Amino acid sequence: MSRLYSAEFVNGCFEDPGLFVSFLFQKRAILFDLGDIHALSEKNILKIERIFITHTHIDHFAGFERLIRIMLGRDKKIYLYGPKGFIKNVEGKLAGYNWNLIKKYKNNFEINVYEILDEALLSRRYICNMAFEPIVLPDKPFNCGGVIFEDDNIVVKAAILDHGIECLGFSMEEKFRVNIIKEALDKLGIEPGRWLTEFKQNLIKKISGKKYNDKISADNRLFDIEELAEKIAKINSGEKLAYVSDVRYTKENINKIFPLAKDANNLFIEAVFAHADKELAALKNHLTAKQAGEIAKLAEVKKISVFHFSPRYKKREDLLINEVIESFDGNI
Ligand SMILES: [Zn+2]
Repeated sequence: MSRLYSAEFVNGCFEDPGLFVSFLFQKRAILFDLGDIHALSEKNILKIERIFITHTHIDHFAGFERLIRIMLGRDKKIYLYGPKGFIKNVEGKLAGYNWNLIKKYKNNFEINVYEILDEALLSRRYICNMAFEPIVLPDKPFNCGGVIFEDDNIVVKAAILDHGIECLGFSMEEKFRVNIIKEALDKLGIEPGRWLTEFKQNLIKKISGKKYNDKISADNRLFDIEELAEKIAKINSGEKLAYVSDVRYTKENINKIFPLAKDANNLFIEAVFAHADKELAALKNHLTAKQAGEIAKLAEVKKISVFHFSPRYKKREDLLINEVIESFDGNI
């Protein structure tokens, strides 16, 4: 009952990168990387609110068209975050189609784009019934490793890494974790249900000093949130995940990945090559499985989840997984 989200890869380890993070009992999700997303159902795609994109190599950004195709004709706002050049890449995609018909659409589909630079977050908005003509919004300040998104529940941070081109690494932290004491619920004779999500959200708002509803209806009974929280809730620190893909194994990169991944409950990290092919990995600006495991060990993460295997290891994925297990020496 304590988990706020679930995080799952969109595709298999040899296919396009993508991590779908779905917030339980809420119709919302975020996505890290936007490669091929055909494996996601339309229902899940429609839950996506924010997409954090490491870089725009085609295997990380090819899903843009499918995303837009499904969201057109709906009242929906989507927020995309990417590295240097991202605005030009998004506008290039949008310029590839003729949008004369959608101007008549009644819905309010809107794409918001943030380009993350060393010291600033550039921002553009593209509205469906303005044929996606760019609207320039004010820049926001940004420091590498700093916050790019925050709401009542989560904080997302980004660092600018080196993949031959600029490439982003991300962390997502829950601010708090509200655990429900099952025995206390039983004692009060209340059935768990969807009301618990609303209860947790309001409690988080209260803890954050924000406006909240102080009453909640549970099992046809009305409760005061504060009084109920004292009986049934335990506030713990939240979980953290980190997402790192497409990086060179350099001191500079490791120093920037370290704070993102430090003590993460789960580090999602590429393991593209076997260490025997480390020269090739360096040439292609990728990590080996051993290097991925070493970074996880250094950052003392609780669990590592690897992906983005080179097709040269098809049917030999154990080679990469065993290397990760050996160098990380922990939970995989
Ligand atoms: Zn790449």
